Amino acid sequence: MDNVIELNNISIEYKMKDVSIRAVDKVTLPIVRGKVTAIVGESGSGKTTLVSSILRNISSPGEVVEGEVIFNGKSKNGVRVLTLDKAGLSEYRWGSVSMVFQASQSTLNPLMKIGEQFYETAYYHGVRTPYKQYLGHIAELLEYVKLDSSRVIDSYPHELSGGMKQRVMIAFGLLLEPEVIILDEPTTALDVITQYYIFNILAEINREKGITMILLTHDIGVVAKAADYVAVMYAGRLMEYGSVFEVFDEHLHPYTDGLIHATPSLITDINKMQAIGGEVPNLLQLPSGCVFHPRCKACFNKCREVVPNMYEVNSEHFVRCHKYGEGENAVKS
Ligand code: ADP
Ligand code: MG
Repeated sequence: MDNVIELNNISIEYKMKDVSIRAVDKVTLPIVRGKVTAIVGESGSGKTTLVSSILRNISSPGEVVEGEVIFNGKSKNGVRVLTLDKAGLSEYRWGSVSMVFQASQSTLNPLMKIGEQFYETAYYHGVRTPYKQYLGHIAELLEYVKLDSSRVIDSYPHELSGGMKQRVMIAFGLLLEPEVIILDEPTTALDVITQYYIFNILAEINREKGITMILLTHDIGVVAKAADYVAVMYAGRLMEYGSVFEVFDEHLHPYTDGLIHATPSLITDINKMQAIGGEVPNLLQLPSGCVFHPRCKACFNKCREVVPNMYEVNSEHFVRCHKYGEGENAVKS
């Protein structure tokens, strides 16, 4: 498998005065080149914190306490992201990997036209082509996200709808032609039709540009069509990972099953929808054994006592659950 990024055994803690919150625990995740990887999980499951390690912009006071992030590991220009110096990091951000933050539309400057904001960012990153000549590139990016570039370039943010601004932000992420773009909840707070439209645009950009995408969402339903690979997170742990076929059609983890049946979407029958019982655990008082066990319908004794390992079902499917792992109760795959 050709992985553009490898997250190896990453743990991230927010270290506060009296306590330390482990928001990500020993996550190992490949990001396959040219594909769309969705990271799904309820709010607070550690999605944003995890991908922040890829860009080394974890919000304070968070820090990576173990593990490694490797970019283009197989090439001779491979990068160990966590040890990059300042100059290397600034080139790597945007140029190699860019991120569209959650609710990032609000970071658009209300006093500047969209075209000027694009140019300012490009200039900051070393582009010295004059504005008038660079406009062609900006127009192309805006057309990619199906915006009327002649209008939008000269617009102020308040002149655009929410869906248009979100598309502007996606175009922004493509500005320096990165190899990887991370989109954090790109359609949350938009209406369903606009969500669908934006996911179609993302799929098209992925196909045409071959750009690798990492898509974060709490809504597993929206990724069924958009993703090639799906990673399911719960309380900072990776619970299940695999190709979209394996995770949707052949999923094994009771949490993944719960998420799929709790989410209204085109793939679930609304009459069979059911919320996952119980609550997301407090990261300061995590349950023993498997962190999901208090909410799990399939829980047995071992789950209360022993932390499950990641179990390889096949080369396209991994699950962290005692039902499928070693031991007397294991289900043979
Ligand atoms: P998600 O993106 O899945 O909603 P986050 O990565 O934002 O989850 O957060 C995971 C957990 O990390 C949160 O539940 C919270 O406890 C903790 N956390 C996130 N940001 C901070 C911060 N700046 N300071 C302290 N704790 C934080
Ligand atoms: Mg988040």
